[in-house]
Amino acid sequence: MPRAYIGLGSNLQDPVAQILNAKAALMQLPESRFVAISPLYRNPPFGSVPQPAFVNAVAGLDTELPGFELLAALQLIEAAQGRQRSAQRWGPRTLDLDILLYGEIVINHPQLQVPHPGLSERNFVLYPLHDIVPTLVIPGFGPLSELLQHCSAEGLERLEPI
Ligand code: ATP
Ligand code: MG
Ligand code: MG
Repeated sequence: MPRAYIGLGSNLQDPVAQILNAKAALMQLPESRFVAISPLYRNPPFGSVPQPAFVNAVAGLDTELPGFELLAALQLIEAAQGRQRSAQRWGPRTLDLDILLYGEIVINHPQLQVPHPGLSERNFVLYPLHDIVPTLVIPGFGPLSELLQHCSAEGLERLEPI
């Protein structure tokens, strides 16, 4: 089974609880086996929109779901947790679930790009990913440990385990 890594993010309506609910939902995904979740990180908002701080984490799961089915399943979880899509990109949200990686597979489709194109610039993705799989090599990007060296952890705060 390919191993997928999912980025989780929330900055509305009790973000820590949103992430924990999403973890529970990921554990229930069909044709999949939940493997691990990173520590949670608090993180200043991304982009130019003034909004509350985010809580982020990364989860790993083995899945037989094809990429687009996995994306659809993640969007259902987002919707179940009250995600509202607005025209404003990178605005506040109860839950964002992004496919960061799907095994070694590269997908370049308007609705699905894997590896996630923002990955190498996002400390809130790279640091939690490194917590759970430090030796990872990312297709098209190279070793995770090298990406980390070029990405400051400034602003990122690892939360106590809960
Ligand atoms: P970003 O992708 O830069 O983190 P975002 O997560 O806020 O932004 P969303 O509003 O959650 O963006 O999703 C917008 C669209 O991105 C989705 O409808 C989906 O089709 C597309 N998309 C492309 N690649 C991916 C991916 N790897 N994971 C999740 N969604 C993706
Ligand atoms: Mg996102
Ligand atoms: Mg998203």
